[in-house]
Amino acid sequence: MKALVLVENGVLEFKEIADPKRPGDDWARIRVAYAGICQSDKNRGFASGAYHYPLVMGHEFSGVVEEAAISGGPEAGTPVAVFPLLPCRECESCSRMAYAKCSNYDYLGSRRDGAFAEYVWVPTTNLYPVPDGLDLKNAAVLELCAVGLHGANLFEISGGESALIIGDGPLGVMMAQWLRFRGAEQVIVSGVHEEKLALCRELGFETIHSRQETLSERLLELTDGRRVDLVVEGVGTEEAILQSLESGGYDSQVMLVGNPRTDITIPKAMFSSLLRREIVIRGSWNSIVAPPEKDEWRMALSEMSRSVITEPLISHVYPLREAIGVFDRLIEGKESFSKVILQVDGGV
Ligand SMILES: [Zn+2]
Ligand SMILES: [Zn+2]
Repeated sequence: MKALVLVENGVLEFKEIADPKRPGDDWARIRVAYAGICQSDKNRGFASGAYHYPLVMGHEFSGVVEEAAISGGPEAGTPVAVFPLLPCRECESCSRMAYAKCSNYDYLGSRRDGAFAEYVWVPTTNLYPVPDGLDLKNAAVLELCAVGLHGANLFEISGGESALIIGDGPLGVMMAQWLRFRGAEQVIVSGVHEEKLALCRELGFETIHSRQETLSERLLELTDGRRVDLVVEGVGTEEAILQSLESGGYDSQVMLVGNPRTDITIPKAMFSSLLRREIVIRGSWNSIVAPPEKDEWRMALSEMSRSVITEPLISHVYPLREAIGVFDRLIEGKESFSKVILQVDGGV
């Protein structure tokens, strides 16, 4: 099969590799349709490095079951989205079904080969059949939707709250939609990309361009001096993290979602004001997939064909065979990209 292979740090090759073998009876072979490029793929491929080489990256994807599992599960021909984390099912977290917190997990596209290839084997427990009305391109961003939903679900929301999302990337816009869905009344997105902020305004959110205006001042104007009840930090820079800590009003909640890029130093005066405002700071990591009634992937999937919008977040779609040039441009950073999707089926 054709695959995009990371042969060493910073070196991708698009080439023919051996078809992977069935790892076990409960694995199905998926013909990959679309695979998203994640910030973490850029990092894994061109900065921090991978667990091993060669590696086929790609963990945000959709496809069609080509060969069903021997043990059952979705039949051949079923369109599916995929939860890429393979939990050990033995550790303490797994015993609580907190699979995203597994201490010994495997992962498609990072610890084992993923979806920047024509085929990938996936355990049936990780397959989410895609409902009618949702196409496979949008289904490839299910992870983004589920991770955004998880962050929104960790807030205590009773309705009518005000919210600020710091970061106008796809996850930020996703979180804004979920917070509104969960009952937040005033939702403000701050960012530095005019076209992404324009999309936010189209979706009905207020925006702050944090290079052209001072976030803290504009926030006070938009909230009549109260600041907000809910803050999402989705960027991970020291500047954004400190902004998130100063944007919440009394008794507000701050959700940390962005991976930190550096060490963070909190000035003493700001720290003291966190105490005075009695702010709740919480981290958000990945998403919940079990038990079924708490499964955020299932819920994201059903809302994606109704209230939550993904199509405008997908800024570019390229065939897999052009992926090397796409990564070059992403790393160069001169163009504005939101979610970039590689078309695998039909794109090799
Ligand atoms: Zn990702
Ligand atoms: Zn585990």
